[in-house]
Order: sequence, then C-alpha cells, then structure tokens
Amino acid sequence: MALRRRRRKELPPLVEARRDTMLAAVKSDARDKPGTYRLLAEDGEVLYVGKSKGVRTRLLTHFRAEYPRDKSARMIAEAHSVAWDYEPSEFAACISELRLIKRWRPRYNVAMKRDARHYAFIRLTAGPAPKLHVVRGSHGHDDATYFGPFHGAVQLAEALRELNDALGLRDCALDTRMHFADQVELPVAVARTPGCIRYEIGRCLGPCVAATTAAQYDERVRLAREFLAGRHDAPIVALREAMEASSERLEFERAAALRDKVTRLESLQAQFTRLRFAVETLSFTYTVSGDGGDDRAYVIRRGRVRHEGPAPRTPAEQALFDARVAEVFAPVARDSGAVPAHEIDELLLVASWFRQHPAELERATPTAPALTRSA
Ligand code: SF4
Repeated sequence: MALRRRRRKELPPLVEARRDTMLAAVKSDARDKPGTYRLLAEDGEVLYVGKSKGVRTRLLTHFRAEYPRDKSARMIAEAHSVAWDYEPSEFAACISELRLIKRWRPRYNVAMKRDARHYAFIRLTAGPAPKLHVVRGSHGHDDATYFGPFHGAVQLAEALRELNDALGLRDCALDTRMHFADQVELPVAVARTPGCIRYEIGRCLGPCVAATTAAQYDERVRLAREFLAGRHDAPIVALREAMEASSERLEFERAAALRDKVTRLESLQAQFTRLRFAVETLSFTYTVSGDGGDDRAYVIRRGRVRHEGPAPRTPAEQALFDARVAEVFAPVARDSGAVPAHEIDELLLVASWFRQHPAELERATPTAPALTRSA
C-alpha cells in the first residue's frame, strides 16, 4: 500500500487522473478472455499493442507497475486511453497481435524485435550484384530474401564467407557502386583495380570494376541458391579436389586449411537441410477450440498461416475448407528455405507457439505431404 502511495505521488496530478480513469474502465469493462489490447496517445497514436489469454488480468499488471522504473508504467503514464478486442483463443490473440504490430509499428513494442534478434538469417539483397550476408532478425519490409532462422551467427558468417569466396560473390558495403562490363554507359573513371583484395586474389568477380557482366554475376547468385538448397555441390567438389592436390604435393598446411573450408561449407548445407525439414514439419491444419464455441481452423504451411476461418461444422463447410486446404497445399517448386522478409515474424511466432505448446502440435492434423518438383 505504501509503495502504491509513493508511486502515485510521483505521477503529475493530470497524468494520475487519466491513469485512474483508464484503470476504472479496465476494472469495470474488461473480462478475462483471450484478446489483444492497445494503449493510445492523445492524438490516437498506438503506443503499444499486447496480447493475453486473460486481457483484464494482463492490463491490470500494467497498472500495478512501478513508475518510472517499469516500461509498463511509463506507457500507462503516456497513454490517454486503452482499448481491447477479444479473440477466440490465445493462439488467435498471438496472430492478431503480430498483425496489429506490423500495421501500427508501436513505439513501445520492442519485445517482438528482441525475439527476432535471437536468430541469425542469411539475407540475399535485391538489386544489382546481390549480396549474401548474415543479419540478426529481418530488416522489416524490404525486397531481400531471407534464409533461416539459424542459431550461431558467427559460424554462419564464417561458412557464408567460404561460399562467397568459392563463387566470387561480393561481400563489400551495400552502398558500393557496381559497374558491370555490359553496362551501356560506364563512368569514365572506372578503375580496373578496385583496391579490393578479394578481386585481386580472385575471390570476387569484380562487379564493381566492370570485370563481369550482370548475367555472369547473377548466374553465380543462382548457384549460391542452388548450393544452399542442396542441389549444387560444385564449390565443395572444387575445394576437395584442391585439397587432394595439395596433399599429393605434400602441402599439408594448405590441405588442412582447405579441409576446414570444406567442413564449413558442408555444415552450411547441413544446416539448410535441417532448416527446410523443420519448417516443412510446420505444415498442417490446426483447429483451436474458441471462447463461446467460436472454434477456428487454421491452414499452416511452412510455418505461415495461409488460411484461417471458422471451423467447419456442416458437410458443405467442410467441403469448402477441404478445397482451401488443397489450394494451399498445391504442388509448388521445391522449397529453398527462403522466407520473404514480411513473413519472418510469423514463422518465428508459429514455431515458438508449437515449441512452447507441444501438445498442440499433436492435435494438429498433418496434411498429405506436398508434392514437390525441382524449381
Ligand atoms: S571486388 Fe568490388 S564488388 Fe567485389 S568485394 Fe571487392 S569491392 Fe566488392
């Protein structure tokens, strides 16, 4: 009680009055049902979006937080109103929260980003001379392609360096100007030597100094994707041949260095195989009992929710749902493990949900394995 009085004294009177009004509204109107809630500033800006399987209890914990030490209390102090919507289940609330955060990008929602930063991704940039590099989390809605999530950013970066070296792909700063050999208008001052050691020692094709065409470079990027998908082994084969040649010449130190490169590339491929398998297992239909009988059915493929709606109750609804499932699981090109930037958070959420609720995974209904064909 003493702590409560001390906290209240620290709030300016107007802020305290506002806080008390919001608290009264929560106490009188909010119920302990799954849902999302949002804290709004005076001008309507969404400051924070949260979710809970018990909205009332969760909101009350924000009001109990100590000001100004706790983030919750600071959010409440800045908020002018609080609103909430109920969802049929905790899973539905998780999905809804994710979408609301993407829509409004609230200032106080850093938790989601923190989750994503636990994981490393390989990012393939868009634009001329794409670059493969390791990042933590996604960069939001960009045109890049992501592969992941992976644990161990350092080892991943080392393995990726080997792949870049083997295929002659760039690893320089993203804003480095590129000048392809087939570019119609070359800047007059394009130097033949870029001052980059990777070009000098033959580890980069040199797209910055017109040493390669765009098509030649793109072909190497294609090979990199094929390698990651486990369909192209040339970089490993070449390194193995060089390793054996070094051994025969009794250059054991060089042979050992080449062996380490081979190991790193093999481990990179193995990680991709495990990733594709793990993501592919997150493919099923999932029916969740909802509050008040509002049961929902989700069609999840490769960790992303591809369809959601009321669980079918009649034969006609079931037929419609089955048709939707067939559509979602229609044969597609073999999965490369690539994830569009805007789907990364959903993949992480779905994976985390079923990791934390393994019994739910057992309730999910596996669909017939998707037929695959080579891309
Ligand atoms: S040679 Fe040019 S494109 Fe390649 S890594 Fe060096 S600066 Fe980048």
